[in-house]
Amino acid sequence: MTDNPIRRVVILGNGVAAWLAALVLSKIVPRPCLVSVVDEPRNAGTNPLWEVGDSSLAPIRSLHRLIGIDERDFMRSTHATFKLGTEYVGWGNSGDSFFQPFGILGAPLEGIPFHHHWLRAQSRGDLSQYSLCAVAARRGRFTHPSEDLRSVLSTLDYGYHFDAELYRDFLRTRAEEQGVVRVSADVTSVQLRADGFIEALLLDGARQEADLFIDASGADATLIEGALATGFEDWSGLLPCDRILAIHCASAAEPKPMTVCTARENGWEWHAPLQGLASRGYIYCSRYSTDEQAYSDLEARLEGETGGDPLYLRYVNGRRAKAWNRNCIAIGSAAGFIDPLAATQLHLIQSGLAKLARLFPTRNQMTRESEEYNRLVAEEYEHLRDFVATHYYLSADRSGAFWQSFERAALSSSLNHKLRVFKSRGRVVLYDGETFDESNWANVLLSAGVKPAHADALAQTLPIEQVQRQLDRMRAAIAQAAETMPPQAKIIQQYCAANLSSQKSAGR
Ligand SMILES: Cc1cc2nc3c(=O)[nH]c(=O)nc-3n(C[C@H](O)[C@H](O)[C@H](O)COP(=O)(O)OP(=O)(O)OC[C@H]3O[C@@H](n4cnc5c(N)ncnc54)[C@H](O)[C@@H]3O)c2cc1C
Repeated sequence: MTDNPIRRVVILGNGVAAWLAALVLSKIVPRPCLVSVVDEPRNAGTNPLWEVGDSSLAPIRSLHRLIGIDERDFMRSTHATFKLGTEYVGWGNSGDSFFQPFGILGAPLEGIPFHHHWLRAQSRGDLSQYSLCAVAARRGRFTHPSEDLRSVLSTLDYGYHFDAELYRDFLRTRAEEQGVVRVSADVTSVQLRADGFIEALLLDGARQEADLFIDASGADATLIEGALATGFEDWSGLLPCDRILAIHCASAAEPKPMTVCTARENGWEWHAPLQGLASRGYIYCSRYSTDEQAYSDLEARLEGETGGDPLYLRYVNGRRAKAWNRNCIAIGSAAGFIDPLAATQLHLIQSGLAKLARLFPTRNQMTRESEEYNRLVAEEYEHLRDFVATHYYLSADRSGAFWQSFERAALSSSLNHKLRVFKSRGRVVLYDGETFDESNWANVLLSAGVKPAHADALAQTLPIEQVQRQLDRMRAAIAQAAETMPPQAKIIQQYCAANLSSQKSAGR
């Protein structure tokens, strides 16, 4: 409908969510529409979250295409490396490693999901050997995916690791170049209309009116919570980690295109390579570890690498009761926060903006749109929460009080149902709005040692020799393709090497 179109959108915040929202909205909102970002001068450039190395899922590339970001430019500017997936070390009750790849993990045979054949063919290598992303990442190899669907290289997919602060700056520059107006001022108060909608932000000496407000103020949630008291659903019972200790340290000479997430005594540790540096950190639970203890645990594992000044952050897992309340939409950490184990926070920003674009309202009609938005966002957050919680829950046999506390975790009914069906028949129940697909779920469950009690009836109809032959062929083709791929370091050098002279030193 074009009647009463939104004329003005104001975005509050100065992080990645604010600037991504500005870039996306300035592309899709009907003109004439002014998008302006209000950022806080006192915070500019000093928010600790930006000092953290972020990593993305693969779909971020389609977001970048939508907002016209050139890959080389982005990678040079943010000191980015490629990411083919994540190695999880010490998770599950076996404590073994498993790799959660992007791209394709095993091809279905006769339309039957791959993991059923793998289960049946027993001892045909671990699951990761059926993913080119996994095999290549472990060898430090990278190439762009092939567009030729007959090539095994077409099964690749990738995201990035990058410096979150440089990324924010990069987005801000692009947005300003595209005419997004930036207003640097403190919000002194928020003026509401009689019906409770936001009318204007009162700034030092100025007033910003708008039809729609985007709250991208991070955990502060200045508008959605501070002004509208929307409410927050706290998920600490299921995801109890609430502290982050982050540092930068020296990178390996040949960084591998993968994040490593290692289970530790009171949480888990990440290692994400950037160009010239590595981002490392420990996510832990304050009920089981003090900050000092967490630092001394992490420091002991640095093995001579120079650690930077440690940075400590607090967070609470959970989501806003409504991401869209009246004429205010929370994006990013203002909408919720999910333990970074599956690196989904940026993805939630991206998918929140995509949903908003599809449901973009008019001034006189936003009730139905907000109801549907809230339904979709709640569904997505809850499935992601369950995906992340599954990693912890299936590791409850690890030693230590932190891990054993997951034996008592109150799982959601939808996750309980999913686990029960898988344990019985190996079928992955997929709900609407899931971010991770069937192969990702099967990978987590099988790698943690969950074995279905009964075989899949359809998979039994294929002759076992045929299945074994096909699996052997798949594995061989993947191993051979990985061998032909160049080292990631060489691709970065030729394609998108950053100028590292201004880089934060490992001992920043
Ligand atoms: C250790 C760690 C690791 C992470 N790893 C990943 C990962 O691998 N992958 C991933 O996708 N995500 C990851 N995340 C999450 C991700 O970094 C952020 O959550 C994401 O960038 C969202 O940022 P944001 O813009 O919503 O919030 P923030 O980065 O918190 O930015 C909010 C901004 O709003 C400003 N602000 C606050 N109040 C006001 C106000 N009243 N007026 C104006 N401005 C205001 C703040 O100063 C800040 O600049 C990680 C987070 C942490 C802490």
